[in-house]
Amino acid sequence: MKRYSIFSLVKEATRYNEGWERAWRSPNPKKSYEVIIVGAGGHGLATAFYLAKNHGISNVAVVEKGWLGGGNTGRNTTIIRSNYLQEESSAIYEKSRKLYESLSQNLNYNIMFSPRGVMMLCQTEHELRAMKRTAHANRILKVKTEMVGPQRVKDIVPIININGPRFPVLGGLWQPRGGTARHDAVAWGYARAASDLGVDIIEKCAVTSVHSDIKGVNSVETSKGIIKTKKLCIVVAGHSGELAQMCGFRLPVESVALQALVSEPIKPVMDCVVMANTVHGYMSQSDKGELVIGGGADSYNNFTQRGSFQHVEETVTALIETFPIISRLKKLRQWGGIVDMTGDRSPIISKTPVEGVFINCGWGTGGFKAIPGSGWATAELIANSSNQDLATPFSLSRFKEGRMIDESVAAAVAH
Ligand SMILES: Cc1cc2nc3c(=O)[nH]c(=O)nc-3n(C[C@H](O)[C@H](O)[C@H](O)COP(=O)(O)OP(=O)(O)OC[C@H]3O[C@@H](n4cnc5c(N)ncnc54)[C@H](O)[C@@H]3O)c2cc1C
Repeated sequence: MKRYSIFSLVKEATRYNEGWERAWRSPNPKKSYEVIIVGAGGHGLATAFYLAKNHGISNVAVVEKGWLGGGNTGRNTTIIRSNYLQEESSAIYEKSRKLYESLSQNLNYNIMFSPRGVMMLCQTEHELRAMKRTAHANRILKVKTEMVGPQRVKDIVPIININGPRFPVLGGLWQPRGGTARHDAVAWGYARAASDLGVDIIEKCAVTSVHSDIKGVNSVETSKGIIKTKKLCIVVAGHSGELAQMCGFRLPVESVALQALVSEPIKPVMDCVVMANTVHGYMSQSDKGELVIGGGADSYNNFTQRGSFQHVEETVTALIETFPIISRLKKLRQWGGIVDMTGDRSPIISKTPVEGVFINCGWGTGGFKAIPGSGWATAELIANSSNQDLATPFSLSRFKEGRMIDESVAAAVAH
């Protein structure tokens, strides 16, 4: 595939941009593949890419019922951070954050990684104590974060009101190399690079059933016919329960809608990400100038991929005391995605009760940041068929063994 570079840009500019090829191939499915990945979100595509790149397995199909990146990967608010509490989480999220640093170069695709810093506010004494604990844990695990006082928060985010009557800012956990990236570009970049390595990406191809026998999985039925495989990896976020049901096992996940909204575009007012976990809201500013605002997940299970009025009201009411500026803004649009939540708010990267079937799910409200690390770990698991360092703690067996990786306490809003 042609490399993107300043030279190719100049060359194409001189010939009316007629020489660009499609970013990824669009083949019909073959009769069989060594590995089939269900779901062309960031995690599925990254898994396919690292299978080909790190393990030389390129006889791989990624089948997607809609369009590539049209699930949560194209609907999230793009926060990237690794300031988690538990050792197992820090390992995978920090691996991911590090991979993000050079992902544009490695994929030859500008994913617009912007390490602008992530500030997690402390607005109650309890939260201050909890964040101090996280800061200590981060230091032990060599994740670079620091606790800052209210005045430093104000210096970093001048539009913030630190003297709110209900929720004054008592401090913050600051991760200077956290930030954002362009979500679509992450999916497109992985798709293009995986396709270049020989992976088939098959869009508009829904998996409708999974066939297996005592020896394990042998094929999947799709809207484009039956495709044979001995290794199947399910990476469908909010639809994980459905796919598990097709395979004949149950998962400890719940599907709920998570929503976000953006304001009309305004001039630059904030150059980092701010999360206000106590009030359930967070905000950053996009390159187009829109304020990207998100809140908590719905408190009931559902599969609605859209926004709702009460959620906008809830989220904006929560944030207005801390960011008075937003009271004067118009909302431009809102949307929702279906996220898959586990009880301990940590993901599942695991073999399953069906031989040859692997699962990557449970990223809940915070899996965008994990895409590179998760793809890396899942590819390793599929290629070596035994759990590896990054993935091992996140196996399904932890729910039977009571070996939870509890991240729910560390962050009420876990994006
Ligand atoms: C509003 C919102 C805000 C968020 N904010 C953040 C954030 O700031 N930071 C962060 O780290 N995370 C965030 N997240 C979470 C993050 O988006 C997800 O964890 C992550 O994108 C999950 O990626 P995925 O590849 O697993 O799933 P998805 O991107 O959802 O991809 C799964 C794909 O599987 C496909 N599929 C489903 N069923 C089938 C089938 N039967 N056959 C074939 N294909 C199928 C779907 O069409 C979909 O394209 C947010 C999520 C939402 C909804």
